Amino acid sequence: MTIDQYRLSEEPAYHPGGSEIAFYEAAYGARLPVMLKGPTGCGKTRFVEHMAWRLGKPLVTVSCHEDMTASDLVGRYLLGPEGTHWQDGPLTMAVRHGAICYLDEVVEARQDTTVVIHSLTDDRRILSLEKKGELVHAHPDFQLVISYNPGYQSVLKDLKESTKQRFSAVDFTYPAAAIEASIVAAEAGIAQAAADMLVRIGEKSRHLRGQGLEEGASTRMLIHAGRLMNAGMSLTDACHHALIVPITDDPDMRAALDAVVAAHA
Ligand code: ADP
Repeated sequence: MTIDQYRLSEEPAYHPGGSEIAFYEAAYGARLPVMLKGPTGCGKTRFVEHMAWRLGKPLVTVSCHEDMTASDLVGRYLLGPEGTHWQDGPLTMAVRHGAICYLDEVVEARQDTTVVIHSLTDDRRILSLEKKGELVHAHPDFQLVISYNPGYQSVLKDLKESTKQRFSAVDFTYPAAAIEASIVAAEAGIAQAAADMLVRIGEKSRHLRGQGLEEGASTRMLIHAGRLMNAGMSLTDACHHALIVPITDDPDMRAALDAVVAAHA
């Protein structure tokens, strides 16, 4: 595998919501680690893809999960036909070759896994491959980015204070209505008027957050509804399958959300 596989060949479309592009450029210029904070499906991954393309850097993305070990990030010895050989993990590859490494939903990883990033996020910029006995000095272009959803955090699953303090951070929320509607129209290939309607329904569902819904419909879900409409489904059915069934099993909540959709249909 070469690092060139991780270069983005086309510009990932991104509608800025504020000054996040200028912030990111400054943070990258200073090689500061960046934390993108916000609910799922609101554009954090798309943003980092866009920035990697803008800066002309390869992007190595890792979706974090609770079974992930430090070896999954840094690498391990593998047994091959000619004996054992070392294989760099995604983090090590990014560190050696000067990529942006994006750890998506980093709190999903256990804290003993997350600590491997500490020496990369201070002035040392080094990664210790303990099993291999190698100390890798980060390539000058390397940068670490993490995403973090503040809504999900529990005491058991949170970043250590000592990890948080290593990052500069930017808040993400769902895009403003007019911007979100253009995103939904463009990504789903539907008319602006239909996208406006989906965004209004999405906003209503977000108001139910904390009243039986963990989170309202994300931009991603509105795009899914739009794609179902593009495939010929009615607004009512598309919303039912893309915005309601995935996020709640409670019959009363489903009925309340169906009523919101019916009011717009
Ligand atoms: P997150 O990483 O926050 O979970 P994503 O970046 O995957 O969310 O966003 C979900 C989808 O929503 C993207 O694939 C993209 O189609 C769309 N999207 C969200 N925000 C934007 C934006 N500001 N500009 C363009 N597309 C967006």
